[in-house]
Amino acid sequence: MLIVMDQNASDEQVRAVVNCIEERGYTARPMPGGQRVAIGIINNDGPVEPAMFLALPGVKDVVPVTRPYKQVSREFKPDDTLIQVGNTVIGNAHFTLIAGPCAVESEAQAMTIAEQVKASGAQLFRGGAYKPRTSPYSFQGLGLEGLKILARVRENFAMPVVTEVMDEATFDAVEAYADVIQIGTRNMQNFSLLKRAGQASKPIMLKRGLAATVDEWLMAAEYILAGGNSEVILCERGVRTFVHHSRNTLDLSAVPVVRKESHLPVIIDPSHAAGRRDQVLPLSRAAVAVEAHGIMVEVHHQPEKALSDGAQSLYPQQFEQLCREVRDIFSIIKSY
Ligand code: PEP
Ligand code: MN
Repeated sequence: MLIVMDQNASDEQVRAVVNCIEERGYTARPMPGGQRVAIGIINNDGPVEPAMFLALPGVKDVVPVTRPYKQVSREFKPDDTLIQVGNTVIGNAHFTLIAGPCAVESEAQAMTIAEQVKASGAQLFRGGAYKPRTSPYSFQGLGLEGLKILARVRENFAMPVVTEVMDEATFDAVEAYADVIQIGTRNMQNFSLLKRAGQASKPIMLKRGLAATVDEWLMAAEYILAGGNSEVILCERGVRTFVHHSRNTLDLSAVPVVRKESHLPVIIDPSHAAGRRDQVLPLSRAAVAVEAHGIMVEVHHQPEKALSDGAQSLYPQQFEQLCREVRDIFSIIKSY
């Protein structure tokens, strides 16, 4: 249930509504919006009687929230969520470029790539320190050393960093170093990890599970919001289908669905969707056109020597071209 206050409702009237909600044992989530304040009611088992709230001064409307992913839904919060990361804002009318290697392999590698992607226009740097690999014999990431390298990248280039957390055991460490904590596709329904993410002090980038429906993805995000962390960025990274021409199939149609259903920003990862670098540029163009809020792209200065995902990593010059094209397309889309 959402209680919508009058445009000129006073703080005192808002407080009275919050008290009325709490007296009944529910939790109130006030949400100041552009035009007016709305107050969400959560932790209610069963329906809430609207009449008692409609009778309170300053209340304009009482709207039922029908979606199971309550706090994630637009019914609950009509205005887009904006997430500030360093000097960058993710969401709404912004298009954010996140780039970097699949994995942090060494300080020299991370610095070289960071310098190049920054010069091309990337706002955030990505790089995994803990890597979820299909084979236990593949490079598993540098772990804590990788996180420390990321911190030096942030310092040197004034770029916030995005890195993946794989488990609860390493959550504190990742939270301490990352600016955005990534939860990977294989962990989208790791509910204990999602609950821990709900307590995190940093924004979470939640990748779509490789066989997850949009509803399941939004319910996974709901775990994080229900835990108290309202800063979630959704990331579509392709789903598993029967095709062999790409690693996964980028589900572009999920973007307008998510934007309609939810106030959370949604970005696209064309690299893991494609699995091959020749598809990354066209899919990135499409990401802008479909009104994603950004893209996250893998870039490596020597992809043939990369310890993971070399085949889908762009050369830095290719990323530079991508940035130019994406900026051009974004300026057209913005003008509509
Ligand atoms: C990654 O971003 O490096 C990654 C492992 O992504 P995903 O979880 O989408 O496979
Ligand atoms: Mn990767």
